Amino acid sequence: MAGHEHLRDGLAAAARSGRLPQSLLFRGPPGVGKQRLALWLAALLQCERRTGCGECRSCRLAAKLQHPDIHWYFPVARPTRVAANKLREKLEQARLDELEARRTEPLRRPPDDAPTGIHLGTVENLRQRAVQRPAMGPRSVFVIGRAEQMVSQRASPEAANAFLKLLEEPPDGVHIFLTSSRPRALLPTVRSRVLSIRVLPLSEEEVAGFLGTEAGADARLARRTARLSQGSIGRALEILGGAEGGYEEAQELIRAALSANRADRLRYALALSSRGARGGFLQVLDAAGELLRDQLALATGSPEQTLDAERAVALSPMPLDADGILAGLASLERARIAATGNVNPQAVSAGLLSELASALGAGR
Ligand SMILES: [Zn+2]
Repeated sequence: MAGHEHLRDGLAAAARSGRLPQSLLFRGPPGVGKQRLALWLAALLQCERRTGCGECRSCRLAAKLQHPDIHWYFPVARPTRVAANKLREKLEQARLDELEARRTEPLRRPPDDAPTGIHLGTVENLRQRAVQRPAMGPRSVFVIGRAEQMVSQRASPEAANAFLKLLEEPPDGVHIFLTSSRPRALLPTVRSRVLSIRVLPLSEEEVAGFLGTEAGADARLARRTARLSQGSIGRALEILGGAEGGYEEAQELIRAALSANRADRLRYALALSSRGARGGFLQVLDAAGELLRDQLALATGSPEQTLDAERAVALSPMPLDADGILAGLASLERARIAATGNVNPQAVSAGLLSELASALGAGR
């Protein structure tokens, strides 16, 4: 596994010396690899040489997500039209199906559309498994991803208490690793029973390295995407998949700047404010920078330098003035600094638009 080296060194040392608590919570922003980290630690604990050697039978099974004593749980959609006495079975089947999908497609992102949860039946399945003897070695490891989606177990206080007891005092040889990007949403009774470990965003180099080796991105694309990813591989993969990237908004921004119409510009600045999320706004600024650099390539007569020549020509059929583009890039850079600070996106974008408009010569 790549990244989080410092944290992994610490966890490995704790595991070696037997100081690793049996119940842990990995918390940190979405997409930074919390579940991967938990699975890595699970594999390390199961390794026949206790080093995570990558070569022993245990490590090879773990790498294929086939280790019989590493159990990965995560939210699944609740099966519909199922008799109550079949629900637990169906929930387990849904988990196994998703696991199979992750085996064949390691970079798979869970679909965001269907409401999912870690349902009571799943928790009961887990609990039952935790008291059984492990299949291969002396221990079993349970990884529970997106643990904040564990549904409130008010419906069954006995089950809830049994699970809490499992967290508080896991049987010998049972490890339980929760992960969450919204630890405050965890049931307080859960939160208070686990040691919490903070997982930081990855560095740009780490994300770029991952995209190069695991997602097959070429070096240039990997670097550019890593820069936009804010240390999240999940986000980087979304950008690579074209799901976002801020290009559409960035095109609107530049079109508005090129428009002679002041009302258009104002409307754009107002629309941006509704995007709210600062991360999203930074992404738009970065994408706008890419678009302007493409314009610069056209303006200086080197279309082969563009990332996307067709898109660049569509944005401005007439080449723009190179000095103006450079001034525009400087404005974007200033806006980026302001937006990283505590200035609200609407104020930044209004100022940026008027600077871009005069730099790019709108209305002349
Ligand atoms: Zn090994």
